[in-house]
Amino acid sequence: MLRRTKVAVWFVLVAFLPIIDAASDANAGSKLPDPVNAGIAEKLFRLDCGRSVANDESVWTPGENVGRSIEFSSTCWLIKHGSEWLLWDAGVPEAAHNDPRGWSTLPKLIVYHLDRTLTDQLAEIGLKPSDITRVAISHTHGDHIGNVALFPNSAILMQRTEYSWINSPNGPNDNVNQLMALARELLGTPKNLQLIDGDTDVYGDGSVTLVSTPGHTPGHQSLLVHLKNSGFIILSGDVVHSEENFEENIVPSLNTDKAASIASMEKIRQMMATYKAKLFINHDKKQTDTLKLIPAFYD
Ligand SMILES: [Zn+2]
Repeated sequence: MLRRTKVAVWFVLVAFLPIIDAASDANAGSKLPDPVNAGIAEKLFRLDCGRSVANDESVWTPGENVGRSIEFSSTCWLIKHGSEWLLWDAGVPEAAHNDPRGWSTLPKLIVYHLDRTLTDQLAEIGLKPSDITRVAISHTHGDHIGNVALFPNSAILMQRTEYSWINSPNGPNDNVNQLMALARELLGTPKNLQLIDGDTDVYGDGSVTLVSTPGHTPGHQSLLVHLKNSGFIILSGDVVHSEENFEENIVPSLNTDKAASIASMEKIRQMMATYKAKLFINHDKKQTDTLKLIPAFYD
């Protein structure tokens, strides 16, 4: 009986070896995780990092919705991996908290409001900003890096291309130039800036992966997170602003590269298929309002 079991186990191992090999070969050269063997992060929390009203939706949907106002959510995410904490995006600056005039990245176009601070939301689960080991930012627009200064001792992870871009000479689009100047101011000079190149496995176990998705800005990135019960979740950054734009490949006029934006949306679509992943869209208020909020979490 014992012998038969051993033989059976041996047969199963041998039979499946070529399949495992083929799967890792297919993934060779990519820093994206193996969908079958990826490690897991323990918890994923959503933080309310602001909300905004823009007076002309057509900036995000060129040719349509001219002069119509639109509301966006701003979202940060907190990930627990072992004993470490990683914050994804840093939201609208806390200085805007409860200010009825709001805060803006482009005053003629959009005004942000902050109802709850990042610090208060971290405190809800017993954390201080100094407990956050790493802050990874999708890109350098002010509503995503507004609170980087709260984390002076954390490693700040961003794409090298993004960092070079905000430190490059102005281009033809004034709005984009304004956003770059604000980015330099908000980012400051982090003590522990970690510039990365392309897709990057943060913990070396496939649980949390920075995914290069340029187009919105030159060094824009998204985040792939693997959880035990929820499976794979992709946090969009601004690779897309709404489910409608994603369905119809619509590229906002503020994006720095239209073709790259479309290619990045396609990369996300392929990843959603490969990893059976859900996509959480940072600024899609309609979707965001349906998602769990700290202290609730995904696991
Ligand atoms: Zn943006």
